Amino acid sequence: MSFPTAADADLLSLAFATTPGAITVSRVRDGVYIAVNHGFCELSGYTQAEVLGRSSLELDIWYDGDERRRFVDRLLRDGVQRNALCRFRRKSGEVFYGHMSARLFDRDGEPHIFAVTQDIAEIMRAQEQAEISEARLRALVAHLPHGVRELDLSGTILLENPAHARLFGYRPGELVGTCALDLLADQEFASRLVERVLTQEPDSTGSSAGSYTADMVRKDGSLIHVRVDWNLLRSPDGPPTIISVLTDLTASVRAEAERRRYVEELTRSNGELERYAYIAAHDLREPIRTVTSYAQLMRRRLEKDGVLTGETAELFDYLESGARRMSDVVDDLLAYSRLQTEAVPFASVDLGVVVESVQASLARTIAETGAEVQASPLPVVMADEPQMLQLFQNLLTNALRYQPHTPGHVPVVKVTAARQGNGWSIAIADNGIGIDPQFFDRIFKLFQRLHGQRDYPGTGVGLAICRRIAERHGGTLTVESQPGAGSTFRLWLPDEPPVLVGEEPPPPQPPS
Ligand code: ADP
Repeated sequence: MSFPTAADADLLSLAFATTPGAITVSRVRDGVYIAVNHGFCELSGYTQAEVLGRSSLELDIWYDGDERRRFVDRLLRDGVQRNALCRFRRKSGEVFYGHMSARLFDRDGEPHIFAVTQDIAEIMRAQEQAEISEARLRALVAHLPHGVRELDLSGTILLENPAHARLFGYRPGELVGTCALDLLADQEFASRLVERVLTQEPDSTGSSAGSYTADMVRKDGSLIHVRVDWNLLRSPDGPPTIISVLTDLTASVRAEAERRRYVEELTRSNGELERYAYIAAHDLREPIRTVTSYAQLMRRRLEKDGVLTGETAELFDYLESGARRMSDVVDDLLAYSRLQTEAVPFASVDLGVVVESVQASLARTIAETGAEVQASPLPVVMADEPQMLQLFQNLLTNALRYQPHTPGHVPVVKVTAARQGNGWSIAIADNGIGIDPQFFDRIFKLFQRLHGQRDYPGTGVGLAICRRIAERHGGTLTVESQPGAGSTFRLWLPDEPPVLVGEEPPPPQPPS
């Protein structure tokens, strides 16, 4: 060992003073410190005065005496030690880890130790954190209800969590070492899949990801439908691997098939019921007409004979109004069952024009009741025009009909429109008797009415027709009201109504 020159010595003492590492020079004979730098004082918490002239043993700087002995023995044997992981004690008693490098040298013919120690607390803390995170991640994966596995690029399973083994009916770890592709039910799909995974465009880190669903075979031979989300990870630390998360879709696929079957069944039986209602209503029209016309004929004869008086006249009134009501119900039922079958394709419909023609058809009622109908500008929408006429006819008729029988009361009906979402909301508001919110659902059902025929005549079909028309247009019909405070019916129509496919074919025409 040779000593540096004087000029170099200046540089060395500068480095000695300023380096953040802890530098010590000590005598081998008794371990006494000859020199320590500022870095040492910072790390150990001692001042130079407290250290110089004393040994590490006296100061109890080493945490473990055996560790110190081993380090010194190796140093004496080899003359040098590099980056040995050692534990030290600060003046405060706190223990810290350091990487210690040391070299033996002669000073005045006596062996000394030059040592540099780097505080690695930060590195140790980061490593501990990484270990904790990894342990957490492992626990998470182990308890995840989804199957998780790691494959090499040939498809061999390197790791699996218990849920993965359970999914396929194996014991945990049993599938490790086997090929994941063998689990696929369709082997042609398996070879296409390998190609897809390996040729998928990588991102900036060289990794790629994707997903697929496939039928897979369990240990007992049964099939499951599984979604696989895979990530092909390339890292500089090792060979590329594929990490996949598997979700069992078998139950939801089955439930979806069941649901579809129910919907089909329901649609079919609804269609049958509607056809039945249509035929029944159609067939009832004729006998009702016969009853009505014979009743009229009889009334004329009896009137002519002068015998239509008293109780007989009253009985006749009942007979005629009963027949009229039956005829109204049958007409409305026919209108309801024709909604689907007599639908016309959607086209541009000016709702302003629609409301005007409904107003014209209600001119007599409006004049008789002295009602005011105010319509603000209304939009042009994609719709079935006859159905829009029917809908506004029903809503305006109701708005004018369900009014208090108070003398002097003037019915006021306002029709307004506003944009709402990707469609139009059209409000038909009246100042009528209102509706108790508990009946909001009921009034849209077939034949559901809230009043007797004497108070307010009707069949209970109108709103059911309106709601069906709204729904056929992909829209909604709702009501807001309070008893005595008027009602507002709100029709919402989307800008783009649904494409209607598979509508019921027209019902067979009953023999006339
Ligand atoms: P109908 O008017 O023939 O009874 P609807 O289906 O059109 O049949 O209406 C069902 C029920 O809803 C009515 O009987 C009435 O009680 C209530 N209703 C409908 N429109 C209004 C309204 N504008 N104001 C108050 N009640 C209404």
